[in-house]
Amino acid sequence: MTAINNAGLIIKNMIKSDRIPGAFIFEGSPEITGVFADMLAKSAVCSDLDYKKDNGEACGVCEACRKALRKIHPDIIIAEPDGDGAQSFHIEKVREIIDGLYLSPNESDKKIYIIKDMQNMTPQGQNALLKSLEEPPPFAIFIITAANLDLLLETVRSRAVKFNLWDGALDAPQDNCGEIIKNILGRNPDKLSVYQDIIKNLEKSGKSGVLNFYYNLENAARDILIVKIFADNLSGARFLYFDNNLEILEKYAGNYSVKKILELCGKIQEYKSDLEYNANTRLNLSSFFSAII
Ligand SMILES: [Zn+2]
Repeated sequence: MTAINNAGLIIKNMIKSDRIPGAFIFEGSPEITGVFADMLAKSAVCSDLDYKKDNGEACGVCEACRKALRKIHPDIIIAEPDGDGAQSFHIEKVREIIDGLYLSPNESDKKIYIIKDMQNMTPQGQNALLKSLEEPPPFAIFIITAANLDLLLETVRSRAVKFNLWDGALDAPQDNCGEIIKNILGRNPDKLSVYQDIIKNLEKSGKSGVLNFYYNLENAARDILIVKIFADNLSGARFLYFDNNLEILEKYAGNYSVKKILELCGKIQEYKSDLEYNANTRLNLSSFFSAII
């Protein structure tokens, strides 16, 4: 799965569960980051909650969606540089954002700030914005796009859930989730050292990589659960992680009880939400693996 597909899936899941973090950074070309920023902003203001819960995206037809489409929704605020060059995103624009930040949204429950090409923002601007990222009002969602994360202050980067959308970029380790589940649920006496290795690898991929790991692991566990519960009637079943590879799935499914897999799914969800809400990545990972020993 490409980084872009993966990011799309993660964001859909956030929208389905109505738990959208307060700050995102999309790294990539202006075209692709723009598409993601648009999609997320629309989904945040769309008023058809049932549709969002089922589909993980904006309905496209409600009043809010129509306004968003015509770029006249008062709760989607776009800030961008004055030109193309470095330092062309001036602190005055940031001040405008900060001045209006604590005013309640006009029509939606959320207020979305799309901050484009942040790599061109002056350090003074970034510092000014940082205060808002640290203590945002509960209704605010910041969507930052940038060609290169290295040009953002580390303090800004660490406040947001990050997605690398450059083509071909891998922002998640493509671990073998089946093997990881086997380790978690099986009787491997070396569990602890296996966990240490997994944690060390995952940490390198940053917060978005670890979030991807949880989503993959949850999908893998769900696939195994389906095979266990519906063993006799699997025609038409769609698997999210194992790509309809029944032979492998049955191999994993044979070994564990439904109760154990359900427990694992619960823990994954718990620690995934925790991380979405800004928990420290290393702490989150080690608590997750200690919780499931
Ligand atoms: Zn809508």
